[in-house]
Amino acid sequence: MKKRDSFLSYGKQQLDEDDIAAVVETLRSPFLTQGPKVEEFEKAVANYVGVKYAVAFANGTAALHAACYVAGIGVGDEVITTPITFAATSNAVLYCGGTPVFADIDENTYNIDPLEIEGKITTKTKVIMPVDFSGQPVDIDSLMDIAKRHNLIVIEDGAHSLGASYKGSKVGSQADMTMFSFHPVKPITTGEGGIITTNSEAFYEKLKLFRSHGIGKTPYAIEQGDWYYEMTELGFNYRMCDMQAALGVSQMCKIDGFIERRREIAALYNKKLAAIPGIVLPEQMEKAESGWHLYMIQLDSQVLHKPRKEIFNEMREQNIGVHVHYIPVYWQPYYKELGYEKGLCPIAEKWYEQALTLPIYPGMTDEDVGDVVLALKKVLDIL
Ligand SMILES: *Cc1c(COP(=O)(O)O)cnc(C)c1O
Repeated sequence: MKKRDSFLSYGKQQLDEDDIAAVVETLRSPFLTQGPKVEEFEKAVANYVGVKYAVAFANGTAALHAACYVAGIGVGDEVITTPITFAATSNAVLYCGGTPVFADIDENTYNIDPLEIEGKITTKTKVIMPVDFSGQPVDIDSLMDIAKRHNLIVIEDGAHSLGASYKGSKVGSQADMTMFSFHPVKPITTGEGGIITTNSEAFYEKLKLFRSHGIGKTPYAIEQGDWYYEMTELGFNYRMCDMQAALGVSQMCKIDGFIERRREIAALYNKKLAAIPGIVLPEQMEKAESGWHLYMIQLDSQVLHKPRKEIFNEMREQNIGVHVHYIPVYWQPYYKELGYEKGLCPIAEKWYEQALTLPIYPGMTDEDVGDVVLALKKVLDIL
């Protein structure tokens, strides 16, 4: 088999001429930022997930920081989260002075294990922060139930899961707050961008304040005059601009098609990879439908007799952009320095050693999928 001519990346945005035209239109308008597009985008996302409020941010990390802030996380507060995520999830807790507490994952879904959460709750626990890893929703009903019993807030990191659903409802309406990211590899893109969806008016108001320096129109300010404003919180400038939001509005019109194509590709992989010994396919919960942000397989080293690193490198040599998501967050030197040690979440660590991300994005053709499978078979010497 000849290798592919072009490199196939693991994820990529899907932009059409009308997306480009939408951004250009905003460039020609009076508002590059703080105009009408951000609100239009917020409404589109809120309607799509079925929630009252949405607040857009400059990026998903800023959105998570804001959610942690409005949840009241401060010094000494503990937040239970998963180690199999991007560092931004637990970093947002650190920004607020809180302490991330890592609970191990479920070995089938690779999402945080509700039973592990129960074991980590202390009097200092304030928030549970699950991640819908790879686009598969967490078992949010179990988590909300735990949160209710212990009086905790749930912030769902849905960076991977816009368009996914749980028990027939779109992700984004079940947790107290849900974050979505619009980085180019995510389900839709705004270049950089993020959003929080919530049904809580109190959170909504505070998120908006935090996004814009903590400055707002208080009753006192209104009394003083039109020029007057009051800064009541130490906020940031975390605003999304209208160029980003214009792209977001245009992308939201296409999300169902994007997710449908991702599901087709995942089904194709499932079919083509089913009979290969030593490859564990991603298992899906019955009550949820993944948005398939990532297609992850596990390589059973005892069966394959080839280390993951070699498989990874040889796939790259075949021009297949495999990746690995994620290194357990607490293995990072910064977290090690804070006192987290290897061995904390054994299932997550074992998962990491065996995991391999295969390319998946809406623009991929069936032939591309075929190339990935052929290359993998070649690398595993089963052709
Ligand atoms: C991408 C991502 C983030 C951060 O989002 P940005 O928009 O890149 O800041 C947070 N959590 C997870 C799980 C992500 O994949």
